[in-house]
Amino acid sequence: MTDSLDSIAVLVVGAGIMGSGIAQVAAQAGHRVLLFDSKPGAAATARTKLETTFNKLIAKGKFSEQSGRQTLERIDTVDNLEASSKVGLVVEAIVEDLAMKRELFSQLENFVSKDCLLATNTSSISVSAIANGLKFPERLVGMHFFNPVPLMKLVEVVSGVHSDASTAETIFALAESWGKVAVHARSTPGFIVNRIARPYYAETLALLLEQAATPAQLDACLRGAGFRMGPCELMDLIGHDTNFAVTQSVYAANFFDKRYAPSLIQQQLVDGGLLGRKSGRGFYDHDDRQQVSKSSFARPDSPPSADNVELHGNGPVADRIAASLDQQDCDYHRQDDSDWQGLQVAEQQLRLSDGLVASQLGKDIALFDLPLGTEPGSALAWSHSSRASQQWINDVPQWLAFLGFSAHLVADTPGLVVARTIAMLINEAADAVQQGVCSEADADLAMRLGVNYPVGPFEWLAAWDSNSVIEILDNLDRYYRGERYRVSPWLRQQAWHNP
Ligand code: NAD
Repeated sequence: MTDSLDSIAVLVVGAGIMGSGIAQVAAQAGHRVLLFDSKPGAAATARTKLETTFNKLIAKGKFSEQSGRQTLERIDTVDNLEASSKVGLVVEAIVEDLAMKRELFSQLENFVSKDCLLATNTSSISVSAIANGLKFPERLVGMHFFNPVPLMKLVEVVSGVHSDASTAETIFALAESWGKVAVHARSTPGFIVNRIARPYYAETLALLLEQAATPAQLDACLRGAGFRMGPCELMDLIGHDTNFAVTQSVYAANFFDKRYAPSLIQQQLVDGGLLGRKSGRGFYDHDDRQQVSKSSFARPDSPPSADNVELHGNGPVADRIAASLDQQDCDYHRQDDSDWQGLQVAEQQLRLSDGLVASQLGKDIALFDLPLGTEPGSALAWSHSSRASQQWINDVPQWLAFLGFSAHLVADTPGLVVARTIAMLINEAADAVQQGVCSEADADLAMRLGVNYPVGPFEWLAAWDSNSVIEILDNLDRYYRGERYRVSPWLRQQAWHNP
């Protein structure tokens, strides 16, 4: 970043949750900050709250008394937009309304200097649409912070059709100088994070609609795969009204592509006022909810039956099972050339899900989910054929426990829980890259920092392989029919490129 940008003053318009957070990080980076809100008194209230915040940060030792006070003193409130004539950057964080944002930027053009850059913190509106009609639309980009701004590292720098590459680069450098990690995104519905994250909710909502599993099971399995929060508890935290509104807006913005369709489950919760934590009840009753505590897991010393054990297939999952069996001194015979991965015990099979359902595959067939969890006792979904013997149904959870997992029986549904969710996250990210929304590296970075995923979609893909992801998606597509599970052309090309 140039010295001139280092020393620019910043006007933040909209002193709500996001605007006051943006004012705080800009002041912490050394900028003089002006804060404006059209609601009388709102900017002053935000300034008072920031004072409380800085007092707390000083008390915690995050700032010395002197630097805390100096930082706060850099933030001033203003009561009109004329003040924008003195700044080098305006960051807009007003309500999420296209007409209001357009009106604001066109007013600002009357005051700002010709070098002043304009940024919008919109989370879902097209940056191209906001810039349309401005005299100098090339100087406007999205600067999409995440909530809470002082804590969340990610900033998506979003370019619309008019945005100058140099404007995007300057805002990128500025965001990094504010201690953030910036990624470039092209303005398309949901940008990077809010787009790629859709399947995390959508697959769970689809499973709930089919009554394939309970919210607690789905949360346990996805936590078991390394996510910090399960989708149901996360939706309860975000609020179903907010999450439903984002889903609807991404759906409409994609011309009602079924892949992004909202769920009846969301509609029912919103209609009934079960908005999640904020209303006391959503998927869970929060007035009454026990803190999720890890249930104790005891790994059995011996398998339920030790005769005629075969380990099928090769690949990371088969290797992991082999390591586990070796560690437990369990005798088995390895069938490397098998076209499936998992265990065969006499005539019974426990197979890694490839997107087919167990009943389709035969009689004594059970399926287990993609095992991403590394901790002993990680939750793992499994299902069984409708024709499986009671003996095999009893044995499977014990086999899974012997292999180090706590087993969660779900309905015989394709791709179980984790496999279909991760496959769809990879697929969405692949489409985003195919369409030039972002790079692979930025998609990974954005998902780790914007929504705290344990790893990014392309990191999952690197540890899995494109053919297996395509197989799961194609099987889901054949099972459900329709557009939802169509494979990204980018993934197919990857599979041909790396057969
Ligand atoms: P908020 O409701 O907390 O604050 C909005 C503020 O803007 C209010 O104080 C309001 O009085 C003021 N305002 C409205 N119209 C104005 C105008 N014309 N001029 C000046 N001030 C005006 O909202 P928020 O959650 O801070 O969101 C602000 C923006 O940030 C939205 O575009 C939102 O989509 C985006 N965003 C929000 C989040 C989030 O989690 N809240 C995350 C990322 C992005």
